[in-house]
Amino acid sequence: MGLLDRAVARVLPAVLPVVPRQVVGHVAGRYIAGEQLADAIGLVGRLAATGKHATLDVLGEEAHTRDEVAATVAEYRAALAALQAGDLPSGISVKPTAVGLAFDAGLCRASLEELARAAAATGRFLRIDMEASPTIDATLALYRDLRAAGHDNVGIVLQSRLRRTLDDVHALAELKPDVRLCKGIYVEPVTVAFQDQAAVRAAFVRALEVLLAGGSRLALATHDEWLLGESLRIVGQAGLGSDGYEVQMLLGVREERATRLVADGHRLRVYVPYGVRWYEYSLRRLQENPAMAAHIAAATVGRVLRRR
Ligand SMILES: Cc1cc2nc3c(=O)[nH]c(=O)nc-3n(C[C@H](O)[C@H](O)[C@H](O)COP(=O)(O)OP(=O)(O)OC[C@H]3O[C@@H](n4cnc5c(N)ncnc54)[C@H](O)[C@@H]3O)c2cc1C
Repeated sequence: MGLLDRAVARVLPAVLPVVPRQVVGHVAGRYIAGEQLADAIGLVGRLAATGKHATLDVLGEEAHTRDEVAATVAEYRAALAALQAGDLPSGISVKPTAVGLAFDAGLCRASLEELARAAAATGRFLRIDMEASPTIDATLALYRDLRAAGHDNVGIVLQSRLRRTLDDVHALAELKPDVRLCKGIYVEPVTVAFQDQAAVRAAFVRALEVLLAGGSRLALATHDEWLLGESLRIVGQAGLGSDGYEVQMLLGVREERATRLVADGHRLRVYVPYGVRWYEYSLRRLQENPAMAAHIAAATVGRVLRRR
């Protein structure tokens, strides 16, 4: 990343509100399957044809009303039915705040349970995405609750960026949780999260080792080449076959690497977001993309100049 890119990347969060929506949509298109379920199903089919699994995410951040939650649950149910009809290798990923966590924990639990049942009816998996740190206690409590109710097709996400994660790993151990391990996308204060890359990587490796020793199934969600290599070395050393773990990557990120992983015999799952509420997710992906800052700056400046 050049000097200008780095400068733009640093101010990106502040300038994003003035980045035109169409610009965000244009440059972030690669991260989203499309607005409609049919777009997502088509994409999951194409991934399946190349040996890749998927997990579908209905886009939408925090819901504020019961109607919004009902619409999201209905969309997930439609997605599960379509996956089943197409016999496609995909589960679903659900954000607790998209199904009511912020305003009604009971509704959130009931919604997740409804979706866990619907997923189980077709032998599919429901991953509860992890959001920003203030939601973690409630999210882990929901997970425990669902497992206690017998929903073993439900998994959790842990974020190695967070100082608390190793404690969470130990606290969850008796459940042998199926864990998607990632660095964590949310910007967190220094009191809550490691800020330097080396510490985040080291914490990822440590959590992975403890989870593996405890018999957890792991989804390694990273595009970081060093971390990927280290993680695969560790699962290899543990003697796990390709059904004992999987690598997960985001749609639109390092696709050639994903293809090589499949060729090398690893199970690979792509996180496939779709839906009309693509804006916030796109912003997060753009902020992570090292080459994107300059692209956005150029596109934005170009539009402003053209308007004059
Ligand atoms: C399947 C999946 C599910 C996830 N679920 C969650 C979740 O529930 N909660 C949560 O907090 N976080 C989640 N994340 C996000 C994760 O926490 C990280 O923010 C994200 O994966 C980037 O970290 P990284 O390990 O890939 O390393 P990074 O160091 O960020 O990236 C490594 C390299 O990957 C490439 N890269 C990464 N991102 C992009 C991009 N957007 N565009 C282009 N290239 C890119 C670049 O080459 C970069 O140098 C998920 C990630 C994945 C893959």
